[in-house]
Amino acid sequence: MSNPLLLSRYIVQIASECAPVIKAGGLGDVVYGLSRELENRGNCVELILPMYDCMRYDHIWGLHDAYKDLGVPWYGGEIKCDVFCGWVHGRLCFFIQPKSQDQFFNRGYVYGGNDDPMRFAFFSKAAMEFLLKSNKRPDIIHCHDWQTGLIPVMLYEMYQYYGMERQRVCYTIHNFRHQGSCGNEILEATGLNRPEYYFHYDRLRDNFNPFALNLMKGGIVYSNYVNTVSPHHAWEARFTDVGYGLGHTLEIHRNKFSGILNGVDYKLWNPESDELIPSQYDLNNMAGKAKNKKALREKLLLQDSEKPVIAYIGRLDEQKGVHLVHHAIYYALQRNAQFVLLGSGTSTEVNNRFLHEKYFLNENPDVHLEIGFNEELAHLIYAGADMMVVPSNFEPCGLTQLISLKYGTVPIVRGVGGLLSTVFDRDYDQDHAPEKRNGYVFYQQDNKALESAMERAIGLYYEYPKEFKQLAQQGMECDYSWKSAGSQYINIYEHIKNIKYEF
Ligand code: ADP
Repeated sequence: MSNPLLLSRYIVQIASECAPVIKAGGLGDVVYGLSRELENRGNCVELILPMYDCMRYDHIWGLHDAYKDLGVPWYGGEIKCDVFCGWVHGRLCFFIQPKSQDQFFNRGYVYGGNDDPMRFAFFSKAAMEFLLKSNKRPDIIHCHDWQTGLIPVMLYEMYQYYGMERQRVCYTIHNFRHQGSCGNEILEATGLNRPEYYFHYDRLRDNFNPFALNLMKGGIVYSNYVNTVSPHHAWEARFTDVGYGLGHTLEIHRNKFSGILNGVDYKLWNPESDELIPSQYDLNNMAGKAKNKKALREKLLLQDSEKPVIAYIGRLDEQKGVHLVHHAIYYALQRNAQFVLLGSGTSTEVNNRFLHEKYFLNENPDVHLEIGFNEELAHLIYAGADMMVVPSNFEPCGLTQLISLKYGTVPIVRGVGGLLSTVFDRDYDQDHAPEKRNGYVFYQQDNKALESAMERAIGLYYEYPKEFKQLAQQGMECDYSWKSAGSQYINIYEHIKNIKYEF
């Protein structure tokens, strides 16, 4: 019998992000990294993305017309779209550009419009029309987060009757906090219509707001398989409040739900080959890391000293434990360490708070706060910092700690979600031998808990530098590549490829 893991499949990923061309967070990294892994395994992978005006066009090669004037039915009429095609670091991507006054993707941002559900409902509809009209019939449609939650709904309720009855959907949830809550105008716009049918608790009706539809819930109900991005978070989503009201729906669909830990693309994130850092280094030759630390200090005008550099990279959002990020800055300074922050606020309020802090700390030679999104600087910080704080309130998987480990930057994390599954406390972990431990973990959400972990890390850095280096190297030895996740997704694709589409 042939080995199913060696069979080639045709997989189309439909998502709102793909690194590095459009990236707001981990979703972009995952869409790119998983696609590359699947291709490396011999599958044919294509991506469908919105064509945002604010994309990094310098990362797209050979952009050309793929489909002119694609008519996408919308509110009983249609919106014409042009579809462009190009390669993003080897991945074949189709970009959908609607020609309408709504300017869905010409707004200088990826997310943040009041009409986001409508924007991405349109994108989902256009992606389905593109597949239909260009005769693309993938074995698997893999969609991600609430933005594409309508894809399986439309496939099951409409497109299977137009000739797409063999397509199967895998739906990956990267963040339960954002679910795409909206009104029934979406149904009219997409041609699904029948509000009395969809406003049902078994279908798209929000579990808590009886007047709202929930696009992520639609994705869960209608997909052939659903997963989130770590096994521990799969449990949390079902049984704790971080399922944000979808726990009951997951319980009903538990037989098609699991958690698969994300990987990191070590082609993009690898200190041995990273072209965005001044000095490459590896496990056996860490001298380059010290040079990167120096370069980081020079770039950010931090004073040269013996002090450790502690960093934070991430969205400045309640999810990320911003109160603890804020405290980490001052605690680092108090404990004779330097602090570098790279982040952008997802709300004006949080952004302003950190801008105020930046202004306040401007003259301090031991701290730099960079408010904004900067991929290049992120690489230098991962390479140049000694420690990385990740004090999240909840964290489905978390990539910052995984990238930090690869760069020999010791993670200090709160023990939730994927952080708990990937960082093992040097002093207290019970499940891993001392040589397998790779960072520091704290559990409570208060300042004291964070301080206890930071204090242990800073203490080791100053008092036992050899042991600190050893800990960093143990982190570099961890393998959080896409290998394992790649096999698990292939198994899921195989599983759903041949099942009957019903729910
Ligand atoms: P989330 O998806 O919740 O934002 P993850 O930890 O899964 O968080 O992924 C975050 C990704 O985004 C990482 O690759 C991180 O380096 C990157 N990132 C986050 N904020 C910034 C920023 N301000 N500038 C550059 N990269 C960032």
